Amino acid sequence: AIEQQRLDQRTSASKAMYVEATKHLSGGVASSYQGRDPWPIYIDRGEGPKIWDIDGTEYYDFHNGFGSMVQGHAHPAIGAAVAARYPLGTHFGCAVPDSVVVADELAARWGLPKWRFTNSGSESTMDAIRIARAFTGRDTVMKIFGSYHGHHDTVMVSIGVPYDSIGDRENYASLSYGAGIPQAVVDMTVAVPFNDAPAMERRIQRLEKEGRLPACVIMEAAMMNLGVVLPEPGYLEAVREITTRYGIVLIFDEVKTGLCVAPGGATDRFGVLPDLVTLAKSLGGGLPSGAIGGSEEVMAIVESGKVYQVGTYNGNPLSMAAARASLEQVLTPAGYARLDQLNDKILTGAREIIARYDLPGYAVGIGSKGCVTFSEVPVRDYESYKENQDVPLTELTWLWNMNRGIFATPGREEEWTLSVTHTDESIDHYLAVFDELAAALRA
Ligand code: PLP
Repeated sequence: AIEQQRLDQRTSASKAMYVEATKHLSGGVASSYQGRDPWPIYIDRGEGPKIWDIDGTEYYDFHNGFGSMVQGHAHPAIGAAVAARYPLGTHFGCAVPDSVVVADELAARWGLPKWRFTNSGSESTMDAIRIARAFTGRDTVMKIFGSYHGHHDTVMVSIGVPYDSIGDRENYASLSYGAGIPQAVVDMTVAVPFNDAPAMERRIQRLEKEGRLPACVIMEAAMMNLGVVLPEPGYLEAVREITTRYGIVLIFDEVKTGLCVAPGGATDRFGVLPDLVTLAKSLGGGLPSGAIGGSEEVMAIVESGKVYQVGTYNGNPLSMAAARASLEQVLTPAGYARLDQLNDKILTGAREIIARYDLPGYAVGIGSKGCVTFSEVPVRDYESYKENQDVPLTELTWLWNMNRGIFATPGREEEWTLSVTHTDESIDHYLAVFDELAAALRA
């Protein structure tokens, strides 16, 4: 309660803006995920690893736009590319040379030859699923229980739902995430547990008997919406083998991992090649953008004109200029080496504090991503997460951090994202604040 009061006092300008904003901006925010109780925090500006809210409070940014700003805020190379593009025109509804360069670079990084662009992660996963359905001639979509893949109907299923309603592990229920999604659509999406390839195969076998073999399995290679949950050894290889055997299109949703954990994302890091990959977030260095990459075989259905993968703003010149500058000048091998070094420092420091104060948790991460998960047992899927996460401690940590200049995602299911502009000082600050929290908890 004290920490909540403190944050309320520190964000009084946001409170005033919220009162004004609610007149015409529903709930005072542009997207439901921007809201929080008792009011959202409005941001004024960002530079490098720092942001300032409208009260003028400075934070080190570990939220980084829901993991989109791995380049840091207002990166000069991206700013210069956007500034150079603007006077030349920002939208034609035609392909531009930068989109060719970006596609070439993504193909080299992911080892997938064919690419298309979108404007967001949701568009990327929506289009990838349509491509998979067209390619296989099937309707059912398989996903991992608890995985977020965007806000279109097919994937707003079996995430964030009350734990006691999910059914048994071998036969999870298909549950709508919020109202407004037709039951017929919900029923077409089937969820299975993460890190359990035999359970996936058994469910596929039952679906096959029912005449509902899935068109695709859509999944994150490392889950980024239950904190961070890494794949256990052999799991991704087993999923690749099973999906190949049943002729199911394997989609790695790399909206969060892509461009954040290695030059060629989780595909590169774990060495398992999907049929389709979806990107967004960090691709555009802060400008709306997304991409779908795929094999010759699967993407041929797009090239044949049988599937429409379309969008007025796809491959928008400003987004493509930003993406090109980011890939060529910022997210280079040196950039990833720096991210690994910074993440190693924060993870090692957090582990040392957890051990010294005997806290109920562990630090886990990969590339620019990581988190401290407060749980007595390691989380490997939605069930172990929901059963074991210490919710009050997770929520207290968020408030504690916010009150001490660490801007973090408000949800209990998010992770930190470091940027190439984060400094050793910013990591030291995070660790000092965590140490102070641990000492207070043990006092
Ligand atoms: N896929 C994953 C793994 C995500 O984390 C998200 C967003 O957080 C999306 C897709 C949807 O992306 P967007 O919000 O750009 O539509």
